[in-house]
Amino acid sequence: MIPIPVDLRSDTVTRPDAAMRRAMAEAEVGDDVFEEDPTVRRLEETAAGLLGFERSLFMPTGTMGNQVAMHLLGRPGREVVCESRSHVIQYEMAAMAALSGMIPRPILAEDGLPTAEQVEAAIAPDVSYRTPTAMIVLENSHNMAGGRVMRPERTREILAVARRRGLPVHLDGARIFNAAAALGIPARELAAGFDSVMFSLSKGLGAPAGSILCGSESFVKEARRVRKMLGGGMRQVGVLAAAGLVALESGLANLPKDNATAAALGAALGRLPGVRIEVPPETNIVIFRVLADWFAGARIDGNPSSACIARLRERGILAVPVNGERVRMVTHRDLPADAVDRAVAAVAAGWAG
Ligand SMILES: *Cc1c(COP(=O)(O)O)cnc(C)c1O
Repeated sequence: MIPIPVDLRSDTVTRPDAAMRRAMAEAEVGDDVFEEDPTVRRLEETAAGLLGFERSLFMPTGTMGNQVAMHLLGRPGREVVCESRSHVIQYEMAAMAALSGMIPRPILAEDGLPTAEQVEAAIAPDVSYRTPTAMIVLENSHNMAGGRVMRPERTREILAVARRRGLPVHLDGARIFNAAAALGIPARELAAGFDSVMFSLSKGLGAPAGSILCGSESFVKEARRVRKMLGGGMRQVGVLAAAGLVALESGLANLPKDNATAAALGAALGRLPGVRIEVPPETNIVIFRVLADWFAGARIDGNPSSACIARLRERGILAVPVNGERVRMVTHRDLPADAVDRAVAAVAAGWAG
């Protein structure tokens, strides 16, 4: 018998559990474009309270949440200061340009966590011939930097720069609860001071779809209009909001374990000769560098990471590339108990077999 693959591609592969499906089946619903869905309203109130904001808005995806925020806080013909590997640059289909007329001003931060000095240096000077800065976007945890966590002290320094320069700041907090769990603090401490914060319900928290965009009352009122403009006005969507509520009520408790599993995976991979853990995992994301000759027997496109991923797939382990040399594994609630052992054994086998 071929064992079920260990799916470490992303925490988005988590499936709604029995309690969640029950809540979805029993959800009270209404037309949410008329603001008449009681379950959506309950989710939005709960989520806003958790992150310490006045209001929040249920979004079909995190990408839409980020883009609605950028549309409202930014301005066409201006720049968005953000880290070079951030989700808003790499995975949102150039939406900041296509939908809001902005271009990124990327900061190269080795660990994915720009300093206040780097942010300040990336902000355009106030002269008539330089493309002006519209806003700043931070990402916490930082996905492509290996799930790194920005401490509240750093965030506060950056927010202070933004205030001084009169710029709004959005937080892409898709995995903010993983970051909060890693630091042992409430997520609201990581969300404090931002103009808007997005987080995902559909990742480690286990909901089948949905994200939340938090902000002030006036911001969320406008966000509702922009969401509609982008085609994100949904009707009896309480069936999904019900899953989101279960995610917030019981899914949060799983995240420390996901972080611990990633730490164990990172530690074990770090002891293997063929790969390098450059950044010990802090949350539920593990990124490792594949040494060029380790998986050379399975060359696909000449990239060590593609070769590694192809070999791992044959061994029942699913992962995704970060770039030509690096592979990402994400831990989550739906992994089998022996996931770490199997993943480590598959990597340890290198190009052999
Ligand atoms: C997953 C993710 C998002 C949102 O993704 P969707 O698939 O659109 O929900 C945004 N930012 C980061 C850092 C993410 O990891």
